[in-house]
Amino acid sequence: MSAASSAIDPAQRTQRQAEVVQALSPLLPTGALLWRDEALVPYECDGLTAYRQLPLAVALPADETQLAAVLKACHDLAVPIVARGAGTGLSGGATPHGLGVTVSLARFNRILSIDPLARTARVQSGVRNLAISEAAAAHGLYYAPDPSSQIACTIGGNVAENAGGVHCLKYGLTLHNVLQVKGYTVAGEPITFGSEALDSAGFDLLALFIGSEGMLGVATEITVRLTPKPQVARCIMASFDDMRKAGNAVADIIAAAIIPAGLEMMDKPMTAAVEDFVHAGYDLTAEAILLCEADGTEAEVADEIERMLDVLRAAGATRLEVSADEAQRLRFWSGRKNAFPASGRISPDYLCMDSTIPRKRLADMLLAITEMESTYGLRCANVFHAGDGNLHPLILFDANDPDQFDRAERFGAEILETSVALGGTVTGEHGVGLEKLNSMCVQFSPDERAQFLAVKAAFDPQGLLNPGKVIPTLQRCAEHGKMHVHHGLLPFADIPRF
Ligand SMILES: Cc1cc2nc3c(=O)[nH]c(=O)nc-3n(C[C@H](O)[C@H](O)[C@H](O)COP(=O)(O)OP(=O)(O)OC[C@H]3O[C@@H](n4cnc5c(N)ncnc54)[C@H](O)[C@@H]3O)c2cc1C
Repeated sequence: MSAASSAIDPAQRTQRQAEVVQALSPLLPTGALLWRDEALVPYECDGLTAYRQLPLAVALPADETQLAAVLKACHDLAVPIVARGAGTGLSGGATPHGLGVTVSLARFNRILSIDPLARTARVQSGVRNLAISEAAAAHGLYYAPDPSSQIACTIGGNVAENAGGVHCLKYGLTLHNVLQVKGYTVAGEPITFGSEALDSAGFDLLALFIGSEGMLGVATEITVRLTPKPQVARCIMASFDDMRKAGNAVADIIAAAIIPAGLEMMDKPMTAAVEDFVHAGYDLTAEAILLCEADGTEAEVADEIERMLDVLRAAGATRLEVSADEAQRLRFWSGRKNAFPASGRISPDYLCMDSTIPRKRLADMLLAITEMESTYGLRCANVFHAGDGNLHPLILFDANDPDQFDRAERFGAEILETSVALGGTVTGEHGVGLEKLNSMCVQFSPDERAQFLAVKAAFDPQGLLNPGKVIPTLQRCAEHGKMHVHHGLLPFADIPRF
């Protein structure tokens, strides 16, 4: 950490690395097993760059035979495995294990088929999110979930994180747009979740797998739904002189039975940072701006835009601008979608939080964050998937100053705990990974965490897939002060720990 580097005995690492290289080398073509430190550095972290750790090795299988053999070999050696897509995750989900192997799916990058009649695409898990829409465009179709990282992130990573995006309010998250996932178990056995039909017999293990953060299996092939491209889309930029009014306007739009194609919010510091970067035409005087999009036929869009304008006026908007053409609409969105990189212009580092709260509490949360800025002596720029109540406060800090890093982490933890107190949850779409382990102790009871661990153990009895992520150990929660320890003994002492 490097926040993640636990003390690893160098002699143990060297010996374990030799065993792994000896076992995996014969299974992979030349150049597909990396183990020298300089070759491992590009894999030392994901988008949560404050946490860094070199793995023992990185395997880059190119087909399922190679992948299955790598998994089986690691399983036989009891070596931890971390699957990796593009490494854009923001919660440390793809942070390597210091005594483990990172398995990159980068070479699983083929679009296998597009079926315009069924409106589905079958793709390998390392295919980039945007590449699916590009391939489907010829049929007037696209893949609707659109994380802002869609130019780079993989569909396998999207499945593992149940990724969302600015248009998921209307079209659903990854979960709602995936029909089937094929992959391999930790032991290298093939496994299929879901089917190409709308429903499958038995328990819905597809829903269990989506969002499981690389803890239950390694996905290799995914069948997604494709959506017809809307005839037209138009976006309103609404300015507000008060955060509370902007927050209330979001709730008012949904209460008016409108489900916009996108409903996003940015506060003044975020708007300023973004405008400087992409020149989207945002109102720099506003305390908050909302982007409200309607899509559909000309008539549907005209009607919905009028209804949203009425609600926004009644909610106290100080300026309303409707995109005049497609270029302006895309400019409005380019600002929002570049919010994270734009933050790099105003701060050397940022921690991007990702909690979700009931929409009607948006304003309360924003005011609480303003108070936290004073408490921790750090600035915070805010961008939200406001329609979903999904917050992305970006806490700005300098990682070269350990005290600032510590304050940023505590600031982030307080945002997550406040979200739970307001009736929300500690993650909306970025996952728990390493980052939110302590917050899981706050949100879930010991019984609930025991159930999570039991599910994990059913798929991965030795706890080799992405260990140390997502489900906090009992010990960790006890140390976090959220669990009562009786006479030095933890409850549920007999359940598996990873
Ligand atoms: C600038 C920026 C903007 C972003 N915007 C959004 C956004 O709008 N919405 C959103 O939801 N996220 C967003 N993210 C976060 C990130 O892009 C998503 O979480 C994305 O789904 C991660 O995909 P990836 O391929 O990079 O996965 P990785 O980061 O490589 O991995 C993420 C997790 O998935 C697991 N995994 C990866 N591939 C597989 C596989 N084939 N099988 C099993 N497990 C696997 C990993 O072990 C890890 O736990 C953003 C990130 C950045 C940097």
